[in-house]
Amino acid sequence: MRHNTSTLRPQQLHVPLKRLALCLDCERCFELGATACPGCGSSTWITLARFLEGGVAADLAETRASNAA
Ligand SMILES: [Zn+2]
Repeated sequence: MRHNTSTLRPQQLHVPLKRLALCLDCERCFELGATACPGCGSSTWITLARFLEGGVAADLAETRASNAA
């Protein structure tokens, strides 16, 4: 399920950690703002900051709850 990454620009984006989310289905990171993963459309994601803190289970439930609202 790998996509061609040749479209990556030489200039890298600089996104604050708290602005990033990690999709738990396709394991891609994307910027917060979308309600679903732009890569696979899954709504199962957590903020990367939370993930690194180890609060995966708690934040997953929280994300699902807030997505339903
Ligand atoms: Zn995804």
